[in-house]
Amino acid sequence: MKALEEKILTEGTVLPGNVLKVGGFLNQQIDSDFIMEIGKEIARLYESEHITRVLTVESSGIAIAVAAGIALHVPCIFAKKHRSANMPREVYTASVYSYTHRETYEIAVAKDYLSSADRVLIVDDFLANGNAVRGLMRILEDAGAQLAGCAIAIEKGFQGAGDELRAKGIRVESLAIVDAMTDESVRFRAQ
Ligand code: 5GP
Repeated sequence: MKALEEKILTEGTVLPGNVLKVGGFLNQQIDSDFIMEIGKEIARLYESEHITRVLTVESSGIAIAVAAGIALHVPCIFAKKHRSANMPREVYTASVYSYTHRETYEIAVAKDYLSSADRVLIVDDFLANGNAVRGLMRILEDAGAQLAGCAIAIEKGFQGAGDELRAKGIRVESLAIVDAMTDESVRFRAQ
C-alpha cells in the first residue's frame, strides 16, 4: 500500500532496538481517515474469504482491527492483556513475549466470543518476531476456529516471522514490508 509506505517515510522514526515509531498516525495518535483506508484495503484482500470475526491483541492492534471489521462488516475481538473483574472465568489464553516491552504476558479471550463456527482474520499493527500472531493462533486452535489468514499493517521483513508463517502455508498480507531500516532510511520490499 503505497500511501502507507509514504506515511512511514514522512512521519515514522527509527528508534534504537529496531523499533519503528509511528505514533503520529497509527499508534498513539490515529489518523482516522487513513485507518479506514487501511481497513478497506484489508477488506479488499480478504473479501472472498468468508471471514466471520477479526481478532487482534490490545492495545495497538485495536484501531486497525476495528477498521477492518467495519469494512468487512464483522465483529472485532481483541485479546486482553490484563484480567479485569468483569472478564468471564471461561477464557482461552496464551503466553506471549512482547517485542517492545521485553516481557511475557498472558493474553485472554472470553470463550463467549469465539467458536468452532468462526473463520477468523488475525490483524495487527506490526509483525516482528511473530509472537503476538502465534499467541492468537493458539487461541484460535483452542477454540477450534479456522484461521483465514493474517493482515498486518507493517511487517518488519528482516525479522523473518512473516516469511516463516507463509512457508507454513498461512496467508499473511502485509500492507508494507520493511526489509531494512536505519536512522536515515527505510527500505521496503517490492510487492
Ligand atoms: P511480534 O510479536 O511479532 O514480535 O511483535 C509484534 C507486536 O510488537 C505488535 O503487536 C506491536 O505492537 C509490537 N511491535 C513490534 N515491533 C514494533 C515496532 O517496530 N514498532 C512498534 N510501534 N511496535 C512494534
